[in-house]
Amino acid sequence: MDIAKKCSCGHSIGDPLIVAKTRYTKKGYVLLSMGFSARPTEVVFQCQQCKEIISSSTEEIIIEKYRYNSDIIN
Ligand SMILES: [Zn+2]
Repeated sequence: MDIAKKCSCGHSIGDPLIVAKTRYTKKGYVLLSMGFSARPTEVVFQCQQCKEIISSSTEEIIIEKYRYNSDIIN
């Protein structure tokens, strides 16, 4: 992932406005909605101001780092 990339309002990873969110498969969302756990397929980094997604990762280590303490993005 490109950690130097900036969103349209000028924020990059490491800025408090850039928040990691997890994304799931359709089946994953269904499992979560029923109260089961599921593993995210992707972590995205989104600016909370302009809502732009500046980076994403499907790396195991990144997914494990964020899967339990991130909001879910649809
Ligand atoms: Zn922004």
